[in-house]
Amino acid sequence: MEKTYNHREIEERIYKFWLENDLFKANPRNVLENKKKPFSIMMPPPNITGRIHMGHLLNNTIQDILARYYRMKNYEVLWQPGTDHAGIATQNVVERELLKEGKTRYDLGRDEFVKRVWKWKEEYGNIIINQLKRLGISADWSRLKFTMDEDYYNAVIYAFNELYKKGLIYKGLYIINWCPRCYTTLSNEEVENKEINGKLYYLKYPILDSNEYVIVATTRPETYLGDTAVAVNPNDSRYKHLIGKKVKLPLIEWKRKDYYNNEILNEIEIIEDEFVDMEFGTGAVKITPAHDKDDFEIGKKYSLPMVLIMDYNGILNENAGYFKGLERFKAREEIVKKLSEHGYIEKIENYRYNVGICYRCETIVEPIISEQWFLNLKFFKDIAKKVVEENRIEIIPEYGKKIYFNWWDNIKDWAISRQIWWGHKIPIEGEEDVLDTWFSSALWPIATLGWPNETDELKAFFPTSILITGWDILFFWVARMIVMSLFFKNEVPFKKVYLHGLVRDEKGRKMSKSLGNSPEPLELFDKYSVDGVRMGLMLITPEGQDVRFSEKYMEVGRNYTNKIWNIGRFLILNFDGNYQPLKQLQIEDKWILYQLDDVIENVNKGIENCEFNKTAKLLYDFTWHKFADWYIETIKTREDKNFAISNALFIFENLLKLHHPFIPFISEELYQKMPFKKKISIMNEKFPNKYGFDYKEEFENYEFLRSLIEEIREVKGIFKVQNRKDIKIYIHSETEEKLKNLVKEHFRIIKFLGGIESFSETNEKLKNSAIIVFDKFLGFLILENYDFEKEKKRLEDELETIEKLYNSIREKLNDNEFLNKAPKQIIENQKNKLLELENRIKKLKIILNV
Ligand SMILES: [Zn+2]
Repeated sequence: MEKTYNHREIEERIYKFWLENDLFKANPRNVLENKKKPFSIMMPPPNITGRIHMGHLLNNTIQDILARYYRMKNYEVLWQPGTDHAGIATQNVVERELLKEGKTRYDLGRDEFVKRVWKWKEEYGNIIINQLKRLGISADWSRLKFTMDEDYYNAVIYAFNELYKKGLIYKGLYIINWCPRCYTTLSNEEVENKEINGKLYYLKYPILDSNEYVIVATTRPETYLGDTAVAVNPNDSRYKHLIGKKVKLPLIEWKRKDYYNNEILNEIEIIEDEFVDMEFGTGAVKITPAHDKDDFEIGKKYSLPMVLIMDYNGILNENAGYFKGLERFKAREEIVKKLSEHGYIEKIENYRYNVGICYRCETIVEPIISEQWFLNLKFFKDIAKKVVEENRIEIIPEYGKKIYFNWWDNIKDWAISRQIWWGHKIPIEGEEDVLDTWFSSALWPIATLGWPNETDELKAFFPTSILITGWDILFFWVARMIVMSLFFKNEVPFKKVYLHGLVRDEKGRKMSKSLGNSPEPLELFDKYSVDGVRMGLMLITPEGQDVRFSEKYMEVGRNYTNKIWNIGRFLILNFDGNYQPLKQLQIEDKWILYQLDDVIENVNKGIENCEFNKTAKLLYDFTWHKFADWYIETIKTREDKNFAISNALFIFENLLKLHHPFIPFISEELYQKMPFKKKISIMNEKFPNKYGFDYKEEFENYEFLRSLIEEIREVKGIFKVQNRKDIKIYIHSETEEKLKNLVKEHFRIIKFLGGIESFSETNEKLKNSAIIVFDKFLGFLILENYDFEKEKKRLEDELETIEKLYNSIREKLNDNEFLNKAPKQIIENQKNKLLELENRIKKLKIILNV
């Protein structure tokens, strides 16, 4: 067996081995014929434009842990993989490619362009899938789905038509988020907020037949061209006398037309409505129904005309008069200049506020009215809330529920049409738009299984067992899958949703290319091995919270896999070919077996409850600090070596199985080399269940020996003789009989692990010795040719110094002035220091017998 874990070679070979043996494949017949219970999980489909990033790593590692665990628990596991066509994102990529050739999509025309996207997809669309495979994930690749596959396409169109027939899809004029660059509508969730340093403009509107003005404040002065009212709060005494009067929009001498091409007036009314915030600006607000969400609602309420002032490229139109043809931000400059020249601007203030930006291209989003297709989400509100309230869908962690309910309580209809070419074309005569990408991914749990046909897959694996996803797509995706499954299958899409956090950098910042804080997963694999990265990640992923990524932990993961490799190698090298586990059990065997049971129970529970971090830590501590540090070390003292190694192999067999979901490659490779190998793959083995080892007494006895050894090591350290093995221990007759016997009986362990030559009993309190005393135990360590008394003098001096330091720190910590002034971190450090000194003082006092 190789000295080191050569991960690159092993990962490649083992993954091929799994694929060749069809170990990831799901067979619905096993469920339908009642041979196995189903466990099914849908992979959130990555975009075909995607490259693997830390988020995928986290998301897929968790899914893989579950898939591998339930397979070993004898479930029929379907892990359904696939990719998403990602409408806008993919279209952008191909458009950028075209731009390099000096062309736009219009040069090609729709059919050619879509062909071009397909060609791009064939070439690059599966890069992310191949990258994910390196992570070792065990999805059923023979079932790989794409949201534009023919059968999937048909399912999407079928769904649209059914919803349309029921009147749940409708076309309407609506204020939408529009990206003039991507030339498409964006859903609310596709708009990101960005805080900017902008300006607040105070515009003066002259009141008709009066010398008075009303002043309105706005961050988008160009929209005044589309104003059709001014609104004030009815409780605002400043404006009471103006209600019902009209203002004249400055500079506008041309005719304006509304959305339906009717001519409208440039003299607009001052209306009253409670929604107006008296504190904002001047308390009077301009109303532009065609370009603002709130104004759109007011406009509907009072039947105000809607005046579009620009086209969908963001260029001002006829309604802008001589500003026509200007780009919207250029127009803002020009309009402000003109208004200012004519004295229509009262003042301009610096103002920090949020703008909506396109999540694909970061262009500032324009709210604009447009004819769009909508899905009536309000219709689903009650039932979608109810299934979560009644725990038919369990959301972990709890806080996800609150966010979910809150979203439904403020639900707006969902604009499902997009003005792009790449996607599912809306199946209505004359329609050019395609459906929002999320409309098709909302059908993911059913359409991947062959719906609307009643397939075996659907019967066996739906509803799915659990969905693993980041909380950032709770609404984009999770809520909408719930809607579609309830509507079409009258059933929830999954019984559980586990929302994991985002992967952030060590400082808690979002990972991004521009910050350069986003590590390349493939490089991490090369450096730390896939298993090392998976384990490292699970060790730092707190349940349901964001992850603070640190490469240090990938190193921890790698060291851990090396440790496991070394344990395996030690066992193989010391194995004589005769495997006889659980015979001739000694105290250390019983000690470890007793704890193994506990570990088995908690790993089962931990994975089932999605407590991956806790479970990874448990495995780590047990394997490294109990099994390797103590058990393996202890059995080196055994005469009946083969029985000892057999027992160790038995524990190791269980450990490999328990670890397999977390670190699949190394556990498989070691399994293949071990005498306990019975199946083709460790994946075919049963996941361990508690054995019921009843060794509590032996466990406690060994724990006593362990603390005695630790005590001896510590005292040897204090006297700086830790490397000497010729130390004798004398046990005082006052020591409890049981403990005396334990030392006598298991002296081989103390001798080897404590570095002690011999032991005797004594009635005296021995001088010239180091004292070991704890819990009904008193012993003396004696070393020939060593002046303990002299060393004790040194330690007494040390004690004195430490006590002085201790007192001075304690005084400081009682000083209110210090506590008020000093930084928190310093106070914390001092407190820790105090505790450290206190322990040292106690220890010294004991061994010096003060
Ligand atoms: Zn955009």
